[in-house]
Amino acid sequence: MHVLVLGAGITGVTTAWYLRRAGFDVSVIDRQPAAGLETSYANGGQISVSHPEPWANPSAPLIALRWLGRSDAPLRFRPSRDPAQWRWALAFLRECLPGRTRRNTEAIASLAVYSAAQLRSLREELGLGYEFLGRGILHLFFSQREFRDAGERVEILARHGIRARLCGRGEMLAIEPALAAVADRIAGGIHAPDDESGDAFRFTQALAARCEEAGVHFYYGTRIRRLLHTGGLIDAVEVEDAAGHTGQLSAGAYVVCLGSYSPALVAPLGERLPIYPVKGYSITAPVADPARAPMVSLTDESARIVCSRLGDRLRVAGTAELNGFDTTPDPLRGQGILRWLEDRLPGAIDPAKAQLWAGLRPATPGNTPLIGKGGGVNLWYNTGHGTLGWTLACGSAAALATLMGGGRPDPRFPFLGRA
Ligand SMILES: Cc1cc2nc3c(=O)[nH]c(=O)nc-3n(C[C@H](O)[C@H](O)[C@H](O)COP(=O)(O)OP(=O)(O)OC[C@H]3O[C@@H](n4cnc5c(N)ncnc54)[C@H](O)[C@@H]3O)c2cc1C
Repeated sequence: MHVLVLGAGITGVTTAWYLRRAGFDVSVIDRQPAAGLETSYANGGQISVSHPEPWANPSAPLIALRWLGRSDAPLRFRPSRDPAQWRWALAFLRECLPGRTRRNTEAIASLAVYSAAQLRSLREELGLGYEFLGRGILHLFFSQREFRDAGERVEILARHGIRARLCGRGEMLAIEPALAAVADRIAGGIHAPDDESGDAFRFTQALAARCEEAGVHFYYGTRIRRLLHTGGLIDAVEVEDAAGHTGQLSAGAYVVCLGSYSPALVAPLGERLPIYPVKGYSITAPVADPARAPMVSLTDESARIVCSRLGDRLRVAGTAELNGFDTTPDPLRGQGILRWLEDRLPGAIDPAKAQLWAGLRPATPGNTPLIGKGGGVNLWYNTGHGTLGWTLACGSAAALATLMGGGRPDPRFPFLGRA
């Protein structure tokens, strides 16, 4: 069967790979001139299996209130007239209930463990170059209050077979000597030795090249305008090229991997996807002093900032803004990340060469992606990966290929359309 994958971010490209490997005939459509140029372009680089708790958790509403009105707050909500924004915000609050948080954490953990295993075997099989580092993630806590719950987090991770342990200052410094400047301020940490980091964009491009070698056709520079359908059956996708010429592409099945733009495409079919863009920022800069730039990926739990070494560059990412589809980077946000670098890792990078980027996380209220069968006969989803699209990409795509082949994927995850 011929499958059209809509979107060539990390989700679309991994979907194309696993479907092709399962024997499907696959084509991919994207409006950009190459793969991975939107949200998958400059994310935090973490394969963060050790962070399955969603942003929506019982402490989130209070934290959000504390940050309200602060222009440098890690989370910023700019109310608009868009009803989708309000619907999403209310659904987010519902997902903060303890039972829902537990359920979402369990689903994400199960998918993340599976995904990391898929990524490992893909890396071994294909030898893809993407600045991979397998040195784990160190979660840093700068206040005793935040560190208090770290033991419980480690226990939850252990229940899912995810290795992680509490660390004191000395141990943390031994794991990552570049933390020397802040050692006396750290309250404690969690080290997850099996976590990884790497450049999601380079991975996406390298895998897209392997997909092409395996016979996948990519329609780049091709904007998807709408789905043409008869009742519940999609007949074709109406597309437009860079010169404004329109046409139609058709297949036996369609997989939506359009990130934050997924809901708008399927809304005319009566499908309401609970995905809203949550804007985030990153800075990428050449390493100035290798001894001061960490090799272990870091998550600063107090500042909600992550940091990954990508070869001779350092990537630092964070912040969350709920304010629509504008991807223009706000320089004030960039300055905030640079201040974090100057405070936590002084001298690590050359700030004059720092590149600021902003992207839209395709977030569901509970941070659980939508994977599986959509409404209608031949519509499928692999989208809504929120804060963990790089971590969950390979597992989500492998699971979707299993579902489309009529099988049952391994993760204990609420796949769509499965009894
Ligand atoms: C600041 C930041 C830091 C992050 N850090 C991490 C991290 O450390 N670890 C982690 O696991 N995740 C992280 N993420 C999340 C991760 O980057 C995303 O979940 C992931 O990139 C989403 O991939 P995607 O393929 O679904 O979306 P995208 O990469 O946005 O791909 C969607 C594609 O659809 C195409 N498209 C959209 N509309 C149309 C149309 N009408 N016609 C044609 N093509 C269209 C776009 O061109 C795009 O290529 C981070 C995100 C941000 C913003």
